[in-house]
Amino acid sequence: MEIKRFLKRLIVLIALLLMISVFTSKVNAMTIVIDPGHGGNDPGALRGDVHEADLNLKIARYLRDYLNDYLDMNVLLTHEDSTMDLPDRADFARNNRADLLISVHVNNSVLPFSNGAEAYVTYRTELPKYNEQMTALGNKILNNISSLGIANGGVRTRIAANDENEDEYKYYDGQNGDYYGIIRRSMKGGHETSLGPNFSDGSGISTILVEHAYMSNDHDYNLINSDDKLKALAKADADAIAEFYSLKKAPSKTDVGGYLFNAKFYADKYEDLRNSYGYNEELLRTHYYVFGIREGRTASPVFDPVYYLNKYNDLRIAFGNDYTALYNHFLSFGIDEGRASSVVFDSGYYLGKYSDLQNAFGNNNYRDGLVHFINFGMKEGRVGSTEFDAGYYLNLYPDLQKAFGNTNYYEALNHFLIFGINEGRSGILK
Ligand SMILES: [Zn+2]
Repeated sequence: MEIKRFLKRLIVLIALLLMISVFTSKVNAMTIVIDPGHGGNDPGALRGDVHEADLNLKIARYLRDYLNDYLDMNVLLTHEDSTMDLPDRADFARNNRADLLISVHVNNSVLPFSNGAEAYVTYRTELPKYNEQMTALGNKILNNISSLGIANGGVRTRIAANDENEDEYKYYDGQNGDYYGIIRRSMKGGHETSLGPNFSDGSGISTILVEHAYMSNDHDYNLINSDDKLKALAKADADAIAEFYSLKKAPSKTDVGGYLFNAKFYADKYEDLRNSYGYNEELLRTHYYVFGIREGRTASPVFDPVYYLNKYNDLRIAFGNDYTALYNHFLSFGIDEGRASSVVFDSGYYLGKYSDLQNAFGNNNYRDGLVHFINFGMKEGRVGSTEFDAGYYLNLYPDLQKAFGNTNYYEALNHFLIFGINEGRSGILK
């Protein structure tokens, strides 16, 4: 007996270690390095006692937060207010295999009327990811920023002057380098002593430098002089990046907790989990996120991945048996498209059937409809699909009435999903 208990504990320990390793490894993550311009001993531009470096760092941190709302993101800052030279910033991005390096600045001019946002990209066109893609991204960023009232100053290139004769300012083919040190270095790679590597092979990093506004201009400064306004600028950047790279929103904690994970349902449904974890919510939750989603298990009455996959041909073509991708699809798109996601829940049907819900949420706010079904509809015995009606189900089976009472629709629904279907019981009048 002692050995059995020891083995059981050992297995749990191994499982936990596996979970930790899965949690800490990011597969197919996109790496974005954000470089807050200046910092440490270098305040950048000044307006009174306002330092450009402080504005840049705030925008950079907000941008990191926004980007972390997307799936599979690895978002890094080059520094958080320490002194760092430009080559080190580019090298940081290179060492972290950045897919994108975005350097965050606010502009300054001795001419008080100079205003607007500008983006700088390399002039080199060896690969689309250098000039072409960064120009497209820059246009999206500047468009978003202009919607905040800061003029669109365009995407620009700037080449180092001819009198900069040192090798540091030249590229591998002897042409002048880009003017901005961080762009030049990210294209050149790690060597300053020679003309540097040939980046036509893709070894240059996609880099964009964004000057978000002119702090020397009164109109612009009024649009950057609070944390909320800097946050709006960061969101402008993040939205553009997300659109450009087709990033997918990660489910928020409340989405997941409320919609797709119900510990009791999960344990009731799967005997192996019940045996391993009992009804321990934390262990069950961990199991679901590490294994359950991937294995196509269902942890909520409203989302059954196998049902969802079988129902939709386009999903089968897109995802095959990749249940993690399927889960993400449901959270990011399926819910809002009003798709049917389990035998008891079809959000399009549900919203269409009940006019009080349409009045409350609008005709196609399926997300709120789904939340309503979870919080109220199931308990009220509302019909969530053409395949199950809890009232009918209870009426039809006296043994269930006896077990649950006449109006315990929620238990009836759970019974149907966990036992009834397997027992060949009917969920609705055919
Ligand atoms: Zn600057």
